[in-house]
Formats: sequence, structure tokens, C-alpha cells
Amino acid sequence: KSHPYKNNTTLLSLSFPNKPSTRWAHMSTPTPSAAVRRHRKVVVIMGPTGCGKSKLSVDLASRFFPSSEIINSDKIQVYRGLDNTTNKISLPERKNVRHHLLGDFDSSDSHPEFTPSDFRSSASSFISQILSRRRLPFIVGGSNSFIYALLAKKFNPEVDVFSESEDSVFCKELRYSCCFIWVDVSLPVLNQYLVKRVDDMLASGMFEELAEYFQNPGSDSVSKCGLKKAIGVPEFERYFHKYNKNNGEEWRMDDDDDEEKRVAYEEAVRAIKDNTCQLAKRQLGKILRLRDAAGWDLKRVESTAALRAAMEGGGRRVADIWERQVVEPSVKIVKQFLME
Ligand code: ATP
Repeated sequence: KSHPYKNNTTLLSLSFPNKPSTRWAHMSTPTPSAAVRRHRKVVVIMGPTGCGKSKLSVDLASRFFPSSEIINSDKIQVYRGLDNTTNKISLPERKNVRHHLLGDFDSSDSHPEFTPSDFRSSASSFISQILSRRRLPFIVGGSNSFIYALLAKKFNPEVDVFSESEDSVFCKELRYSCCFIWVDVSLPVLNQYLVKRVDDMLASGMFEELAEYFQNPGSDSVSKCGLKKAIGVPEFERYFHKYNKNNGEEWRMDDDDDEEKRVAYEEAVRAIKDNTCQLAKRQLGKILRLRDAAGWDLKRVESTAALRAAMEGGGRRVADIWERQVVEPSVKIVKQFLME
């Protein structure tokens, strides 16, 4: 028996089928030259949760820039576990592209929390290694505080630049030569997509994953410190503490379950949807600050039409829109950057 309110939508219907681009086949794929290494070039893919960053980065790295490696910059996805709940890109979706800082850390290690400073040092060491292999680093993930910590020439861990109203707190100088691709999306469309995505995630294992998380006696200890903040954990805490007792089956939802249990479940799901939409809105606000206050030269591509088409049924149409509106402009941007 799987999740109680399994609906008809599947992740597949919202995913973008892969379609090799023929339009670009005639163009040679630039291999990062010595200049990439000399100028310390990195590509940064930014955007709110759900906009298609991971898909875009793998499309670029697997089909157009094969000498690339991806460094994850999502602060929750750096931890091991809760792969479904945190929406980590799966192994088949990674298409053999090498990923770093994705599920690498146990929060039981000496560091209970992976901080922006930790990210700055770990990610910069990966960048150096990738460049020394004459490959191109891609930074991909929604945590803009991590991205800023990594890229700012001078980073002060004591100051949360995003909570300051003064633009002058931002260090405008960068440590690398950066190509910023911003996957923009209309918020109302993204919200609709995110709400549907939560239903799909619940239907495809998130609920069971959370049940197991809460069943583990270590779940209250520091060992799950980082993951504790993942959207889904606080929202379902009350539900599982009440229904996830010794009997492993108790958390499941049956037709004859009481109203209270059903309401508790529905409240948790509603809170997950609200919090995911809030996260996307906050992330967008931070991206705009990086553009306007830090002066980052963000190259904008737009995935609104692709998301809309994905919600309307997926298939070939989504793939075409995705290629034309997101992948092709991004390929042009990166090629231009590599030639500079
Ligand atoms: P930052 O603000 O540092 O740029 P962010 O935008 O990734 O990072 P926050 O605004 O700090 O995230 O997070 C808001 C909430 O969303 C937090 O509770 C956080 O743990 C959660 N969250 C962020 N990313 C994920 C994710 N990939 N999966 C689940 N929950 C997440």
C-alpha cells in the first residue's frame, strides 16, 4: 500500500522528456581551453526551486559541454538522506555527469550544520580540482547565500547580506570569472507547478521516506540537524509523532481512519505547499538583490512556458519549448562566455 491520497498525476507527466537538439548539431562543442583555467571560469545556474535548474545543467553538461562537472549549491541537498523530500536529482537523471556536494554530508559529522563558510571552502576546492582537470565547473542550486559566500571576493560570515537593507554590504568583486544564467519563471505559474509537484512527490515516496525518518529513534538528536529543516520534516512532525508509534503500520491512512488523522495529514500537506511557494518567492527576491545590489550580470532565460506546458500534459510539446526557450539560449550564453 502506498501513500494514502495517491492521485493520477505522476512525476513523469511533469518531467521534460529528453530530445536531442538537431538545430545545434552542426555547431562544434567547445572544450574548455587553457583560458578557462587561467581565467578561472565558472558557470552559475540560478533560479527558484522548481524552475528547472538541475535539468538545464545536466542538459548543458551532457549534450553541449561534455567537459563539465556540477557542484550542488542547495544547502539541504548537501546532506545524505531524504532524497525524495529534498528533491535531489536522481542518478539516471544525472546522465553520468559528475556531481559534487550532493548528499555528501552526514549531519552527524563534527559539523552539525553545513554553513555558507563551509560551502565557500569546499566548493572552491572542487572548482580548483575541476579547473585543474581542464574541465568547466557548473554551480547549480537554489541557495543564494551559498552562491554569494562562494563567489564574493571578500566574504564575512558574520554578516547575512540578504537581511541587510543597505546595498553596500555586498562585495561586488568576484573570485572567479562567472557566467550567470538565471532561469526566471512567472511566480503564479511556478506556484501552480510547485503545488502539483508536492502531490507528485508525496505519491512517489516522500510520505514513506518521512515516515521512516520519523521512525528512526535518532530523528530527534543532533544527527539529523541539517535535514531537520528540509521542507516536509517540520510540517509532518506532529502527524508522525502522533501516528508513527511502535506499530509501523499506524502512520498509514486507511479508509476508516478518523477525521482527526485525515485533517492532520491535509494540514501538513497544505503547509508543505505554502512553504515551498514561500521559499521560491524568497529565492527570487535574493536573486534580484544579487542583480541589483551586488551588480551581478545575470543572463535571463525563461522557463514559464515549459512549466505551463508540462502541467498541461507534458510530452513532445514540453520538450520543444524547453529546447527553444531554455536550452538553446543557455547554450549561446555559455559559448559566448567561453569565447571571451
Ligand atoms: P538561502 O536563503 O541560504 O539562499 P535557500 O533559499 O535554499 O537558502 P532558505 O530560505 O534558507 O533556503 O530555506 C527556507 C526553508 O526551506 C528552510 O527551512 C530550508 O531548510 C528549506 N529548504 C531549502 N531548500 C530545500 C530543499 N532542497 N528541500 C527541502 N527544503 C528546503
